[in-house]
Amino acid sequence: MSTMHVLPINDLIEHEDAGTSCVCGPTERPVKADDGAINWVVVHNSLDGREKEEGQDAH
Ligand SMILES: [Zn+2]
Repeated sequence: MSTMHVLPINDLIEHEDAGTSCVCGPTERPVKADDGAINWVVVHNSLDGREKEEGQDAH
């Protein structure tokens, strides 16, 4: 099992990218991998109001 963190870019605060005790109150989300394993994604909340995830502004 592995955990991935989705962090807001250039946020006002420093996020903890280990564990789920970050000050922003991140949300844990299970994501099924291609091989059937469950990976946990920890989605951090930006404190400046954005709810933009990394990788979604490419197109
Ligand atoms: Zn955070």
